[in-house]
Amino acid sequence: MASAKRDHSTTGDALLSREGRLLAGLLVGWRCPCCDVRMNSGDCKKTGLQIDHVVPFAVGGNVIAGNLVPLCGACNASKSDSTDLIDWLERRLVAIGAYKTRRKHCKAEALRLAAELDRIRLELAATLVEAGIH
Ligand SMILES: [Zn+2]
Repeated sequence: MASAKRDHSTTGDALLSREGRLLAGLLVGWRCPCCDVRMNSGDCKKTGLQIDHVVPFAVGGNVIAGNLVPLCGACNASKSDSTDLIDWLERRLVAIGAYKTRRKHCKAEALRLAAELDRIRLELAATLVEAGIH
């Protein structure tokens, strides 16, 4: 099979259009989900909103909503065609000095979810007892 280089201009996907980028900006409050910098709709290589392919386009990532995420130009450039997302994210968070904060936040979120699951488990057990199932 011939390996024709993939080209965004042939995808014609609305998600990569100017309107798509404006919508993505509105959805994330014009803040980069990675580094929290205030983004804009311009072409600035650092703060301009860009659409990143989570699985890189160059290695076959699709132009579908589930594979696209808005990032600032600086984060998108640092990710480039990286396919090891955890490795990239850790390197990026260290680079912007946010690793400790994000890790703390992630741990707090994990604890909150665990507590929520425990609560749901107890509620379910009580409901089953009430219904005479257990
Ligand atoms: Zn960023």
